[in-house]
Amino acid sequence: MAWMSGSTSNAGLVKKLASNGLISSDRVLQAMTSVDRAHYAPSSPYQDSPQPIGFKATISAPHMHASACESLLPFLNSEARVLDIGSGSGYLTHVLANLTAPDGVVIGVDHIQGLVDLANKNMGKSPEGKKLLESKRVQFIKADGRLGYPEGGPYDAIHVGAAAASKHQALIDQLKSPGRLFVPVEENYLQHIWVIDKKEDGSVESKKMYGVQYVPLTDAPSE
Ligand code: SAH
Repeated sequence: MAWMSGSTSNAGLVKKLASNGLISSDRVLQAMTSVDRAHYAPSSPYQDSPQPIGFKATISAPHMHASACESLLPFLNSEARVLDIGSGSGYLTHVLANLTAPDGVVIGVDHIQGLVDLANKNMGKSPEGKKLLESKRVQFIKADGRLGYPEGGPYDAIHVGAAAASKHQALIDQLKSPGRLFVPVEENYLQHIWVIDKKEDGSVESKKMYGVQYVPLTDAPSE
């Protein structure tokens, strides 16, 4: 299903994701419809596949963005604090900002300065994106995402857009109670999405979901 959702327009792509069962919430549908993926993916923006964005990084496939939003949705309220680790193109950061309007704050972290610059540039292509940057509802920061970004936390929701070598405790520590972490984790050369909930009483519950293929969360390349 995932690879059959391509279209010739942004609205068409999002509609197909919905009709193929990859988006079920109207909120996610609206939030993805109002961000033109062409501002973030330099080629074939309306295909349901990852695309290269330079710096050996890719913008993830739309069905993965949809799945992350659907999973984090219960924690994305109108004043949520959200951390998007491995923000790359900035596309998902923008969608997450839409899902936390009007007062939520979304911090995108990437360890490559060129990608932090690219995300800012991409978001500046639309008047809505420009406003998000000016109001600081979205901030892109260069940092090692494996450590999270404690200065901006604690967070209602943390998304990780690259495969982690473990369920980094630093990220769980930076969740609110309640809060949710969506993270691909690689074990024995296989990657799976894990959804890790910190409950109201502070206890932590981890669920292994489905198999995925992400670029790894790594050391920054030497500059
Ligand atoms: N969500 C992004 C995914 C980009 S690909 C999008 O859809 O556009 C994964 C990103 O993780 C890359 O941009 C890469 O630079 C970043 N990354 C890898 N290791 C990292 C680390 N340790 N800290 C922060 N970002 C990292």
